[in-house]
Amino acid sequence: MSVKLETLKRLVEKPFTTPYPFVKPPVPAGLRGKPEIVVNEKPDPARLACPAHLDIRGYVRKIVEGDYEGSLELIRQKVCLPASLGRTCNHPCEEMCKRNYGEEEPVADAWLKRFVADWVYQKKRERGEPLLKKPVRTKNQDPQKKVAVVGAGPSGLQVAYDLAYLGYPVTVFEALPEPGGMLRYGVPRYKLPLDVLRSEIEAIAALGVEFRTGVRIGRDISLADLRGMGYKAIFIGIGSHISRKLRVQGEELKGVWGGIDFLRALNLGEKIDLGKKAIVVGGGNVAIDVARCAIRLGAEVQLVCLESREEMPAHAWEITEACEEGMTILHRRAPRKVLGKNGRVTGVELIGVKSVFDSEGRFNPVLDESTHEVIPCDSVLIAIGQMADLSVLGEERSQFQLTRGDTLIAVDPDSGATSVAGVFAEGEVIRGPSTIIESLAGGRRASLAIDRYLSGSNEGNPFVDEYDYGRDLKALDITAERRYMFLREEAWQKKRVPMPMLSPEERKTNFKEVYLGYTEEMARNEARRCLSCYKCVGCELCLKYCPANAIELKLDPQKEDVYWNDTAWKATGPPVIRLLQCVMCQMCEEVCRCGMYHLTSEYELCFTGAVDPEQIRVQARSE
Ligand SMILES: Cc1cc2nc3c(=O)[nH]c(=O)nc-3n(C[C@H](O)[C@H](O)[C@H](O)COP(=O)(O)OP(=O)(O)OC[C@H]3O[C@@H](n4cnc5c(N)ncnc54)[C@H](O)[C@@H]3O)c2cc1C
Ligand code: SF4
Ligand code: SF4
Ligand code: SF4
Repeated sequence: MSVKLETLKRLVEKPFTTPYPFVKPPVPAGLRGKPEIVVNEKPDPARLACPAHLDIRGYVRKIVEGDYEGSLELIRQKVCLPASLGRTCNHPCEEMCKRNYGEEEPVADAWLKRFVADWVYQKKRERGEPLLKKPVRTKNQDPQKKVAVVGAGPSGLQVAYDLAYLGYPVTVFEALPEPGGMLRYGVPRYKLPLDVLRSEIEAIAALGVEFRTGVRIGRDISLADLRGMGYKAIFIGIGSHISRKLRVQGEELKGVWGGIDFLRALNLGEKIDLGKKAIVVGGGNVAIDVARCAIRLGAEVQLVCLESREEMPAHAWEITEACEEGMTILHRRAPRKVLGKNGRVTGVELIGVKSVFDSEGRFNPVLDESTHEVIPCDSVLIAIGQMADLSVLGEERSQFQLTRGDTLIAVDPDSGATSVAGVFAEGEVIRGPSTIIESLAGGRRASLAIDRYLSGSNEGNPFVDEYDYGRDLKALDITAERRYMFLREEAWQKKRVPMPMLSPEERKTNFKEVYLGYTEEMARNEARRCLSCYKCVGCELCLKYCPANAIELKLDPQKEDVYWNDTAWKATGPPVIRLLQCVMCQMCEEVCRCGMYHLTSEYELCFTGAVDPEQIRVQARSE
């Protein structure tokens, strides 16, 4: 086997520091035979942090192996819109990724998801195959158990997808002309091209889901009508589509837009003239989307927000990209009045902001009347938040328990069940503005609950996942576990493979997709950076470095040595430690990049980390 010189150098540069005795410590009383600890695998930190608990380590590993279809299957087990999500997810998983440490960058989970989805869809199109397999009717055989889904956003689509797979007849009622929710009428096209979203929704329709668009529940049809039409369960996933108002003088002038209304009009294909200069009010992600769309319509755009740059809730990379396209920002300003002439906007009057949050971190802006300025402009776009339109509940409104000042529907958090029997709700209508992945995860919770409600149990439902991710996330001490010294060349790369993207000049005059996507080679290289946390890859390093020959590994002899040829998982089971041989030197902990071993202290008989404390199996094998 040829060993790369560079790799050898690294091993020498990072010598072991842990001293260890070669003398066996006394065997604890009570242990008989051949006691062993089975070092079980557990979900990786990124999976714990993902609201839908996608098997991130699994789908990333399958990319390393070149099994893209298998990778997409793992993603599809949890979410119905992989290609759309891969382009838009706010990726909380990447925050918790073990590689998100010091000068390193997390594994690009979302971009890898986009890669596999695009790759597999392309191949399927070339082969003339449908994007999704036909549903195997695992549960419902009763055509009478119909489900109505109100709203075709991510939460509603997930419910429709899950229940169609289980065999329930599903109809989705959508107020707007096309399904997709905010992905269709909010998220700008330079982030999520229409053909990508449409093809994923068409695939859901091909499962047998009926879409009735242009129907507003609460206006055209009531909830009672739906029951009368034979729907045995109703899911409400209507999101939040009403732009919040500033409540200042002049807001009714022509040229003043609610941020959501502006994006909806744009996505409906309406012709919009913002004039020469547009002021965008707001510091969040929606405000940045509004600003970047306004730039693409030819306006000079200035963003006005209460916050300093560091305090802005928008993602830092979104702000940077918008500034590259020409957006300027006026921080620590609040609009006091919209100025106008002949019914049209002519400018905004601003005052200063001393602080935005109080000493306890609560949103509580303190205004500074001494700073006062007027900025001339032709349009004002207000993106300071959005609310749900609860007219969907119609005459039944009083029967629903509401929350947060009666602006959201109250539900049981585990099931999405509302206070009205047979009616479930999830997504932004229960939690206010949030994210696509939260809404998809909520849709999954609700679909499980609807299945339970209609069939009496979740028996036979392949989507059930009862793992207690919350408990593991709480127990996770990521800083204590971020250690690894032996990595292959690719895995050693501290920074992620950069996403190819259009230059600011190329992108600011059109709605072409800004991120161009990974090539196959880029995706494989990025996937190799994943450490496979808490699932043994079978690299055999612990075996080689254990001074006491205390470790037993089950390895597939057909597979190559994964340390040198990182192609496939070689381990066929978890490592086992023979306790009577172990000298508790911590060497295994030092060398394992997966974090399988974690001794609480040297010379102490205690392994944690991948070892689930509740599942430690100290087995006694007979001699
Ligand atoms: C501009 C913008 C950009 C965003 N970008 C991102 C992003 O990049 N990443 C991210 O994670 N999140 C993003 N979000 C948030 C994300 O889009 C939402 O969290 C998510 O779409 C909410 O899903 P939902 O299912 O609750 O509802 P929605 O997606 O809002 O869909 C609800 C649907 O219900 C329909 N509806 C409403 N009332 C009725 C009725 N009475 N009858 C029938 N149909 C009705 C609506 O027309 C809509 O189609 C963005 C939001 C906005 C506004
Ligand atoms: S390195 Fe890989 S397995 Fe570990 S947290 Fe990140 S994505 Fe998950
Ligand atoms: S199992 Fe780990 S702690 Fe025990 S002797 Fe081997 S390397 Fe040391
Ligand atoms: S060092 Fe390698 S073989 Fe040993 S537990 Fe870790 S990943 Fe598995």
